[in-house]
Amino acid sequence: MKKIATVLIGFLWAMNAPAQGFKNKITLVIHGGAGTITRQNMTPEKEKAYKQTLEMALKTGYAVLKKGGTSMDAVEATIHVMEDSPLFNAGKGAVFTHDGKNELDAAVMDGQNLKAGAATGVTTVRSPISLARKIMDRSEHVMMAGKGAEEFARKEGLEIVDPSYFYTETRWQGLQRALEKEKTELDHTEGDTTKKTGLNQENIFTEGNKFGTVGAVALDQFGNLAAGTSTGGMTNKRYGRIGDAPIIGAGTYANNATCAVSATGHGEFFIRAVVGHDVSALMEYKKLPLKAAANEVVMKKLVKIGGEGGLIALDRQGNIAMPFNSEGMYRGYIKADGSLEVLIYKD
Ligand code: ASP
Repeated sequence: MKKIATVLIGFLWAMNAPAQGFKNKITLVIHGGAGTITRQNMTPEKEKAYKQTLEMALKTGYAVLKKGGTSMDAVEATIHVMEDSPLFNAGKGAVFTHDGKNELDAAVMDGQNLKAGAATGVTTVRSPISLARKIMDRSEHVMMAGKGAEEFARKEGLEIVDPSYFYTETRWQGLQRALEKEKTELDHTEGDTTKKTGLNQENIFTEGNKFGTVGAVALDQFGNLAAGTSTGGMTNKRYGRIGDAPIIGAGTYANNATCAVSATGHGEFFIRAVVGHDVSALMEYKKLPLKAAANEVVMKKLVKIGGEGGLIALDRQGNIAMPFNSEGMYRGYIKADGSLEVLIYKD
């Protein structure tokens, strides 16, 4: 009898062990974009505003994880805070296209089952990250674009706004500067057709190399990883351009077997380097630890092809990596015990 009881207790303990094991590993990591972010071009007020919002985002997602919520719920709640803030290039505060519009991209991925959802080029959905989530949860597709995606959002009851909701004066001025710079460059590059037609990837985006996409990766008490990214893309983008953020395996990726990744930077290069999946593949096939894999991609592979930016990554053990090859990256994390850190600059 005693033996049976011991076996039973042992069995029940084993059943519960994974959840117990992950309960004190819950972790949330975020980014608010990478780029030319230096102490010199920052004011104390601006720095404070960024830090406060990043902290609020971390605490919001942490509350979800702490209550026993899923990593996907935490990622979505965290990104809402940053989408609603005009400070970041996602939701309100998104950058303008060449034609003066805000076209938003977002994606989510669930590491437990490799399910994913992505929305691109939407102009009327208040929270693109929630649309990506709906596409994952409520449709048989992975990716929806433009008008169709907006129709689906409406059917699913997501908040639809007038495109003017996304307007901010700062981003509008950013576009004006980009257009002005482009005009000056064109005036000085007669005969160089790549620049004239805007086909040269290095030259079509000219707003001081500031990005500002937002992203989150989380580990919940069930041991599941999730990733999400939301963005307005890049200032002065044109012709229905889509960046890396909504492309599964490029700007967004999650797999319980390896890691969850959300990237920020010059999307064209991140697509070509298949950044998110590459970090995961280095862990899966080459058995690299998280940090080494993330560094390999950001500090070597991307640098080699000229791709500026960074990423956040998290594995099932709660290890964190936040490498970037730009001057700065808004970033932060919060751990199971509630300790958090928010960082902006290189050092
Ligand atoms: N990666 C985004 C894009 O290329 C931009 C960013 O990170 O801010 O659309």
